[in-house]
Amino acid sequence: MELYRCEKCQTTYDEIELEDLNNSCGCGYTFQQDKWTQETPARLKSLSIEARVTSEYLEVDWSDGEGYYYMTSIFSEDMEFTNIWRHKTREDAMNCHRKVVNALYFGKFTVHDYEITVSELP
Ligand SMILES: [Zn+2]
Repeated sequence: MELYRCEKCQTTYDEIELEDLNNSCGCGYTFQQDKWTQETPARLKSLSIEARVTSEYLEVDWSDGEGYYYMTSIFSEDMEFTNIWRHKTREDAMNCHRKVVNALYFGKFTVHDYEITVSELP
C-alpha cells in the first residue's frame, strides 16, 4: 500500500489513516489542497511553440521507497516531451525547474517526430 507523506512535517500515513483524518495532518497541512506546485510557461523559440514546465510535490513516493517525492515535467498541446525528472527535495525541484525552462528557451533539446527530448541540463 502506498504511503502518503506530509510535505511540512514528513509524517507518513496510509490511505485509511488519511481518510480517518479527513486528509488533514496534525501539523496543519491538508493533503491534495496544500500540495506544492510550480508552473512556468516556456517558449521554444526555434519551433515557435508554447509549453509549460511543471514541478510538484507528489505526496506519494512513486520511486519504490527511494524518497523521490518531487517531479518536474513538461507539457504542450503541440508536442510530446519525453523527460521526467524526479527529486528528493523541493530545492532540487526548483533548481531543475529553472534549468528546464532555460534549456527550452535556448533550444537545448532534440526533436524526433512529435517528441522532444531535453538534452543535458546545465
Ligand atoms: Zn504534517
